[in-house]
Amino acid sequence: MFGVSVVELWPFLFDVLAACMVTIKTGLLPVCFHVGASSSLSTSLTCEQQLSTSTSPDRMVSLHPLLDNGITPGSDSFPGGTLKCLCPSSPVEITLTTNVAHNHACGCSKCWKPAGALFSIVGVVPRDELSVTANGDKLTIVDESAVIQRYACKECGTHLYGRIEKEHPFYGLDFVHAELSEEEGWQEPQFAAFVSSVIEQGFDPAKIGEVRARFRELGLETYDSLSPPLMDAIAAWTGRKNGKLPAAA
Ligand SMILES: [Zn+2]
Ligand SMILES: [Zn+2]
Repeated sequence: MFGVSVVELWPFLFDVLAACMVTIKTGLLPVCFHVGASSSLSTSLTCEQQLSTSTSPDRMVSLHPLLDNGITPGSDSFPGGTLKCLCPSSPVEITLTTNVAHNHACGCSKCWKPAGALFSIVGVVPRDELSVTANGDKLTIVDESAVIQRYACKECGTHLYGRIEKEHPFYGLDFVHAELSEEEGWQEPQFAAFVSSVIEQGFDPAKIGEVRARFRELGLETYDSLSPPLMDAIAAWTGRKNGKLPAAA
């Protein structure tokens, strides 16, 4: 009726909201926050670096090394492999006995990002398909109060896996970063989640349109929450829990 549907406006509204939150917290935009992993152990990208990467002539916005040069498709028959932290010696190693699923770019402040990346790339595996196979004594939980208990290497700060111990729609799934593996065949990123969240972490809101356009160029839809199938799964779980939907068989 108005030419632009609410659905089309939704991402924009989130961007405005995120920018407002930064403005409220700091009084002024732009602000030089550090962009990158929330872990104090990880390397962050300063605003200066962010601007220089985002103004390079051939690439307006740098998202993540696995995205910037185009996406490499994974293999349906890939059986899993080992992921290692970034320590040059005695790395923590986890072994996955299956490929990741729902692999995606995430703009939230909690997921681990490699140095210089604006987004994390994170996927899930069933928790019984994951085991710590070397140097597990170097693991520590980043934030014990968070729903997802993210296990990071104490020395290099890399997150090896995130696990949910509470009653939750995603209980039973572990969150992992397949880029920590040298093997090829991991499921390629499927979509971009929590895109507007990068603004809260200091990304210039005027450039968020470039970020969304870059994802679309790569064939990835952008969302300011999770993807519709995951949001529907959460809603169905909640509906069953509160008795509005029949209990799962
Ligand atoms: Zn390490
Ligand atoms: Zn995230």
